[in-house]
Amino acid sequence: MRIEDPNVVAALSELGVELRCSASLAKLTSLAIGGTTDLLSIRKHESIPGLLSLLDSRGVPHRFLGGGSNLLVDDGELPWVIMQLASPDPDVVLEGNFAQVDAAADLGRTVTYCAKHDLGGMEGLIGVPGTVGGALRMNAGAYGMQIGSYVREVTLYRAATRQIEILRGEQISFEYRHTSFAPDDMMLAVKLELPSKPYKEILQGIRICNEKRRSSQPLGQKSAGCIFKNPPGASAGRMIDDLGLKGLSVGDARVSERHANFFVNAGKASAKDMLALIADVRQRVRSAFSVELEHEVVIWNA
Ligand SMILES: Cc1cc2nc3c(=O)[nH]c(=O)nc-3n(C[C@H](O)[C@H](O)[C@H](O)COP(=O)(O)OP(=O)(O)OC[C@H]3O[C@@H](n4cnc5c(N)ncnc54)[C@H](O)[C@@H]3O)c2cc1C
Repeated sequence: MRIEDPNVVAALSELGVELRCSASLAKLTSLAIGGTTDLLSIRKHESIPGLLSLLDSRGVPHRFLGGGSNLLVDDGELPWVIMQLASPDPDVVLEGNFAQVDAAADLGRTVTYCAKHDLGGMEGLIGVPGTVGGALRMNAGAYGMQIGSYVREVTLYRAATRQIEILRGEQISFEYRHTSFAPDDMMLAVKLELPSKPYKEILQGIRICNEKRRSSQPLGQKSAGCIFKNPPGASAGRMIDDLGLKGLSVGDARVSERHANFFVNAGKASAKDMLALIADVRQRVRSAFSVELEHEVVIWNA
């Protein structure tokens, strides 16, 4: 979608929102799949209510992009604009056991920064790409931990009130790759409370998690992490593997040989290829195990 109305372009500039025309979502997502659309880069949180009013009053549909590491975006010219937060400097501020982190902050860098200041707990998140905002929205987790356990406050733009508000941790429910935020809420910042731990001990935990990832995931390849959520008490990857589906392909979209729940873009896969592969695997799992796999990857169909 192109924003061409000069009045809208001028209003964006007044709000301090940068307009990048025809951005390629293939370049902004870890799967390297996706068409093009205009991208709005937001520098100041305060401009968000005005920006949303502007877009809604002009009938401009919009989506919110974090680091693009859990997204499968459709091909071609996309029918919505993309909003993304620009990262401020500094994006993490520590006070005692609390870390105030901007949603645009890189998750891995946040974990290591806190670790260097003897704040641990998030070792399992090392190797999870993307932003802190995306991790909050998805309640990212690994190796028995999830980010939600450490959340004490979230600053967000609430679609229901059209205002920036602060929610306390106990007002939010964090479940397995699911949170109680409304679909159009935007995470802007979070206050985490992290346990004190010596850096050396945290580093040891980080190394163990890194090693587990290296030995089980196709890290050098383009993916969005796990495609499906694990059904209660079962492993989606194990079911796919048991059906002998590693290596199954549609075009360049392929079930990883290394981890059956990672689907990789082995070349020039399109969204159409990846969606067909996902549907095929889901159907085979349904037939064999009577289990309906749920997507973990967020799919943006045009
Ligand atoms: C190699 C690899 C390994 C991975 N391993 C793990 C893992 O171990 N555990 C795990 O949980 N995930 C894993 N993932 C998936 C992914 O990295 C996480 O889900 C990550 O937290 C997504 O963050 P993001 O900023 O990239 O979000 P995006 O992919 O940009 O967005 C995902 C969703 O969140 C929304 N969103 C993003 N930012 C915001 C915001 N600020 N406010 C509101 N909504 C927002 C988007 O609209 C979208 O709906 C992995 C991915 C890869 C590629």
